[in-house]
Amino acid sequence: MRYVFPPPAVPSVAVAGSDARFPVRRIWCVGRNYAAHAREMGMSDREPPFFFAKPADALVEDGATIPYACATKNLHHEVELVVALGSAGKDVPVARALDLVYGYAVGFDLTRRDLQNEAKKDGRPWELAKAFDRSAPCSALVPAAVIGHPKSAAISLTVDGQPRQASDVSEMIWNVAETISALSRYVELAAGDLIFTGTPEGVGPVLPGQVLVGSIAGIGTLRCTIEAAR
Ligand code: MN
Repeated sequence: MRYVFPPPAVPSVAVAGSDARFPVRRIWCVGRNYAAHAREMGMSDREPPFFFAKPADALVEDGATIPYACATKNLHHEVELVVALGSAGKDVPVARALDLVYGYAVGFDLTRRDLQNEAKKDGRPWELAKAFDRSAPCSALVPAAVIGHPKSAAISLTVDGQPRQASDVSEMIWNVAETISALSRYVELAAGDLIFTGTPEGVGPVLPGQVLVGSIAGIGTLRCTIEAAR
């Protein structure tokens, strides 16, 4: 194959305990998948979750320092369980959905909340609020072959050591298998797809110079520093 310019590098995520990396194809995200977070966003907790996407090159490595996102005055943290798919599926039954899972990680769905609120108000798409550069920090993946498929695990996020979000992944409205199954009815899933499964309550602003630390018991931690203002 001859390209008119060199193609960009394949986005990828580290794998815990391995020097091989997980190549990323697509990033899907679930909206409002924890009832208490749906309520804090002003919605009832009975609406079914829905999906949006981020570009794969929005990924950020654990431990990175990133600039405060441009074009926002209200950058928010959302800590999430990330599911990485190791095989393909379409119209996947819930009972077989976990067979697609390669592993799990901790992710941040960084959000320009002011732009998201404007988009909601005007009935416009969410891309510029969600799918911006460096909006998807993600920890190393732990393979399901090593840890299995956690049904419950404490999930939390601190900002400069202060607790902001704390819940359990068992609180998700749609669990991992149901999420994969539902998404697979809209798009073909394939190895390399990541699914950010939604955030619990306690989202809030992060400021220049602050350090975000997310953790999910049995899966790992994710640390991200927002560059100090110059
Ligand atoms: Mn989210």
